[in-house]
Amino acid sequence: MTEAPISDRAAAIKPSATLAVSGRAGQLRAQGKKVLNFAAGEPDFSPPTAVRKAVADAVHAGPVKYAPVPGTPALRDAVAELMSTVHGRSFSRNEVLVSCGAKHSLANLFLATCNPGDEVVVPSPYWVSYPDMAGLAGATAKFVPTTRADGWRMRPEALAAQLSERTRIVVLNSPSNPTGAGYREDDLQALGEVIEARAPRAWVICDDIYRDLVYGDFSHVSAFKAFSESLGSRVIIVDGVSKTFAMTGFRIGYFVAPAPLVSAASRIQSQTTSGAATLSQAAALAALTDPSVPAEVAAMKEAFTRRRQLVLDGLDPIPGAEALPPDGAFYMFVDVSPHTGPGARHADDIELATWLLEEKLVATVPGTPFGAPGHLRMSYATDDASLTDGLSRIGDALSSLPTA
Ligand code: PMP
Ligand code: GLU
Repeated sequence: MTEAPISDRAAAIKPSATLAVSGRAGQLRAQGKKVLNFAAGEPDFSPPTAVRKAVADAVHAGPVKYAPVPGTPALRDAVAELMSTVHGRSFSRNEVLVSCGAKHSLANLFLATCNPGDEVVVPSPYWVSYPDMAGLAGATAKFVPTTRADGWRMRPEALAAQLSERTRIVVLNSPSNPTGAGYREDDLQALGEVIEARAPRAWVICDDIYRDLVYGDFSHVSAFKAFSESLGSRVIIVDGVSKTFAMTGFRIGYFVAPAPLVSAASRIQSQTTSGAATLSQAAALAALTDPSVPAEVAAMKEAFTRRRQLVLDGLDPIPGAEALPPDGAFYMFVDVSPHTGPGARHADDIELATWLLEEKLVATVPGTPFGAPGHLRMSYATDDASLTDGLSRIGDALSSLPTA
């Protein structure tokens, strides 16, 4: 054992639970076990044809050099144009920072805005990485509880209770990972009023990574549309190509924000990762601009819509497994609390998910790392046959258990 220690910062950080479960599912598969993976938050599709061609063209075109730190001019312009269309206001190149995935965009933002002692307000259940990113930036995460009865949406008074002068960031994630819940315009308006009244020094980070993946009558609402002009000056939009274009492995995300904040985050990026990968930026440019891409994305969305219904129907007869129909993203957040705790076979959702993975070979992510014990997150970004097979394995497994 070495005497040279690791930092307190590293010791305090938890590994990403979503990536950890996917990793374990991969190990079991490598041992030849037929694991059905409902853990991975990533589409099973290939990226659009034009994206693959753009990478091939770029790699054959000559040297592949460092990209400018904030992103290639062409990609920043394409992002500015897209964000201008989506959000109904004009963004320019110097209000865009391209990073190595939306996760990196968020980490840069937390580091560029938080001082030690600041607070980051996060709706719970939350995507696993927000609290640890806040911790890395020296800030403290404050959680706003939401319930299934409220559609997993924050009530304005619950948000107000966590806001103060110390709030430096409020995170909005619509549609949400892990619940799939999305905010309507009047919901957002009410939350905006509370933020304006109670958190005068807070940035509002809208994590819009699932903006395009919405179902039924839900459509994504821009915070700029719902908020007042003055609160709009504190809004940051995080978005990226990972989910909509099935490009998780390309590692390209971006945010739009006031130019001084883009410069600050870009300085951090210049001393840590440099610009995002040149080939991936060429691929992302094709995703955002090639006219053949929207038809391929529409086909992926159609598959997600069908799979969402397949999972809702499959869960219906399973005892002690309840979920709300999600507005968007590709997750079903299932209340399995009757199968956990006193009187049940498994002490908690972590033990239940471990049993499902190791014994029944179905990978799901337990709710605890999302701040919601008694739940399992199932990703339906996997093929229909695996979904059908996995739901019947889960149904058989849960039916065999005594409930509390
Ligand atoms: N935000 C949310 C809510 C997510 O689920 C993900 C998926 N990992 C990300 C951000 C980051 O996406 P990426 O880094 O792959 O662009
Ligand atoms: N966002 C995805 C998930 O929640 C990918 C893994 C991660 O980055 O957390 O599963």
